Order: sequence, then C-alpha cells, then structure tokens
Amino acid sequence: MELIDTHSHLTFDGLIQDIDGVVARSKAAGVTGWLTVGTDMQENQKAIELTEKYENMYAAVGMHPHDAKDVTDDTLTRLKEFTRNEKVVAIGETGLDFHYNFSKQTDQKRAFAAQLTIAKELNLPVIIHCREAFDETMEILDRFGQGLKGVVFHCFSGSAEQAKIVLDYGFYISFTGVVTFKNSEFTRQVAKIVPLNRLMLETDCPYMSPEPMRKQKINEPALMLHTAKYLAELKDMDLTDFTNAVTATSRAFFQIS
Ligand SMILES: [Zn+2]
Ligand SMILES: [Zn+2]
Repeated sequence: MELIDTHSHLTFDGLIQDIDGVVARSKAAGVTGWLTVGTDMQENQKAIELTEKYENMYAAVGMHPHDAKDVTDDTLTRLKEFTRNEKVVAIGETGLDFHYNFSKQTDQKRAFAAQLTIAKELNLPVIIHCREAFDETMEILDRFGQGLKGVVFHCFSGSAEQAKIVLDYGFYISFTGVVTFKNSEFTRQVAKIVPLNRLMLETDCPYMSPEPMRKQKINEPALMLHTAKYLAELKDMDLTDFTNAVTATSRAFFQIS
C-alpha cells in the first residue's frame, strides 16, 4: 500500500525536531509520499529545504489567509521564485478564513486572488483553505473560470450541498482525520458523495490526529492510515482498492510519481 499525505506541515514544531523518525514511522504505516505545505515565507523556505532531503517529499508554497496582511508585491515575486524549485508542485495554502479573521477580510481576498493569479500563470494546482467563507471563496475562484490547473479544498468543512458545488466546478476535496471524529456527521455525509477520482487524503499534521489516536497531541503522517481505513469502511470498500484509487488521484492532481 502506498498512501500520499497531500497536506502536512512537516516543518512545524513537534515534527521537524524528529523528522527522520516521523518519516520512518510514516513509511512503516504505508504513507510513502508527502506534501509539506508552506503558510508564510519562512515556512515556504523551510519546506523546500526539507523536500531536498527526502525522496517522494514535495512542497507547496503559499501565504495562509491568517498571514494575508503580510502579502506584498515582494512576497508574490518571491513566491514565484520558489516555484522554480522542481520539488514545488502547488501553490498554497491560500484562501479565506473568516472564522479567525487574523487578517482583515479585504486583505485575505486580495492575497487569495493574487496567489490564484500566480497559479494560473504558472499552471500549478492550488490548495485552498476555506473556513466559514464558502460563498466568498467560490466567488473569487469563479473569476478564474477554467483557467486554473487544479483546485483542492483541503480539510473540507462544508456541507454536502457545498461539496456538490465544489465538485460541479471540477474541483477536488481532501479529508483529514476530522472525518473520524464523533461529531463530524456533516463531513461523513460529504465523504459519501465525493467520488474517488476527486478525493484526497491528508493529515494537516501536526494538527488533528484521527480517531482512535485523537489523544496523540502531535499528529503525524503515519496516523493517516486510520483516516484511510475509516473512509474505506464508510465507502464500503476494500482498503487496498480505496488507497490505490486515492493515491492515483493525488499523483495525477499534483503530477508526482
Ligand atoms: Zn488550512
Ligand atoms: Zn494546513
């Protein structure tokens, strides 16, 4: 079995200190590929450096909506420069987070649109972070029409109705361990309707360990196996059939081997 963790923050505290151990445990659990996702310029730089150490590890570069206030023209130029590295396979995470509003909504929208422009120009897929801002996120994505190479909503937290809209646009949906939580009935309803050629898996580690490991404070890629098992069961599928399909989807989306 080969799984790809399509959204991790391996450069974050709690993971980076033991990265060799994290990678070894991940491989042992069948999670043999990783995307480590940048959230600000420092993390983007660290993510790229880390991918140089490991085969099958790739990076996404972007400015998280929390940090939208720091996005300047210079930031955008540097983001573009980062993408010249062959291990950079996506732009993100970017999007809108109106739950925390750590950056002003106008700044978030501006930074999001600017990063989509870069993704379109460079023909790279985009990783979307969307929290309590579904309509606004779709409105901005809609402006780009068919111009984006690929769009994935990571850690999807919307309703089944919203998921249908996302799928109608041709976009992808990625699930974290949240789908295994007792109170995540909404997300389970979403998972049931997302076809395997649009579905990806992620940890979003170090956050959100899946059940039955939810008590493990620092999530890591190895634990994604629990999410995979849970979703295979939910979809009434053989685990290997499920993971083969989802891994093929992830590889095609990010164009990785
Ligand atoms: Zn996110
Ligand atoms: Zn993230």
